[in-house]
Amino acid sequence: MVAGDGRYGSDGELKILGDAAKYDAACTSSGVDRKSGPGGIGSSMAAGICHSFAGDGRCISLLKVLMTNACAYDCCYCVNRRSADTPRIAFSPRELADLTIQFYRRNYIEGLFLSSGVLKNPDYTCERMLETIRILRQEYHFAGYIHAKAIPGSDPVLLEQLGQLVDRMSVNIELPTSSSLSLLAPDKNKQAILRPMGFIRDRMEEARQQLVRYRHTPAFVPAGQSTQMIIGATKESDRQILQLTEGLYRNYRLKRVFFSAYMPVVEHSLLPAKDEKPPLWREHRLYQADWLLRFYGFDAGEILDERQPNFHPYIDPKCYWALRHRELFPLEVNRASYEELLRVPGIGVRSAQRIIRARRLCQLDFDGLARLGVVLKRAQYFLLCKGKNVMGSL
Ligand code: SF4
Repeated sequence: MVAGDGRYGSDGELKILGDAAKYDAACTSSGVDRKSGPGGIGSSMAAGICHSFAGDGRCISLLKVLMTNACAYDCCYCVNRRSADTPRIAFSPRELADLTIQFYRRNYIEGLFLSSGVLKNPDYTCERMLETIRILRQEYHFAGYIHAKAIPGSDPVLLEQLGQLVDRMSVNIELPTSSSLSLLAPDKNKQAILRPMGFIRDRMEEARQQLVRYRHTPAFVPAGQSTQMIIGATKESDRQILQLTEGLYRNYRLKRVFFSAYMPVVEHSLLPAKDEKPPLWREHRLYQADWLLRFYGFDAGEILDERQPNFHPYIDPKCYWALRHRELFPLEVNRASYEELLRVPGIGVRSAQRIIRARRLCQLDFDGLARLGVVLKRAQYFLLCKGKNVMGSL
């Protein structure tokens, strides 16, 4: 494999390296508003960058691509691992920057999601990613959204430079526990993954404080950092995964934790068989629970505990929690606090806010709740209005 040797042509390289990137789920919207300066190109909107969906239903942002699928590591769940028999190619930084700009000019994409296999070592890989992004930002004055994967083990000096050029960075936590990591990804370890996360968190905080003090200061990863975890390749319970997620939000101020149901693409004695279905429903339940952690004031320990360490396949986590805490219901909607309302299945953040506003003016009944956007087919079992349930009984 020669980096950017043109053997496959740009189209062939893009097909292979774009396909190799599809298992990376950390690709949602930018969260950054920015216009290009004079002579610049591109812009970024908080509403998000373009997304596409791969054949297997995964969300893929355009242009989402690897620098290279060659990798010095041997994570046994990965199609690009060192021992895999697959054609290896790499973009040169100039080639990838040119391709991104061409795609941008043709209106195919609004940004770049750049990841990479570990070519030679983390520093060398990071330098190549950095050079690609430097060309885009400084030569083409590209102001569109860029999300870059930080390669654990890279020198903080390189991470610093990368963080000043990109909108978002992510360091993949990969697997929920250290023991799973050493079993399936022997070249990685938890500390090496958490170190750059801590570095990015500290630098983001520093940049935020400087901005308050000086008003004009170089931004550092303005759209925040995220991570991704593979679900179902190892035996951890949903509770373990959720507790880790909560810890990552609290300790590393992550913007998002992404969950990726393990796709059995390789045959390996330590992994689920290739014909096993990916646990997509678990991935979905984890996203629902993640929402409860971030917006509904739940703790991981409330959602799942030692007695119930896994999600119910047919009941969403909020409803599952409510059914296990029937002593707290029914709630009188005209008296319940905002925090209590948020815990009712069928009441979301918006409808809870509307209820609080509306009841300053009048006492609410079930028809009024429906008009405020409450999903009554779920909420009715947990609420009273003016002391009566939905059947009108006291
Ligand atoms: S580091 Fe591991 S997961 Fe990443 S490309 Fe290499 S083998 Fe795959």
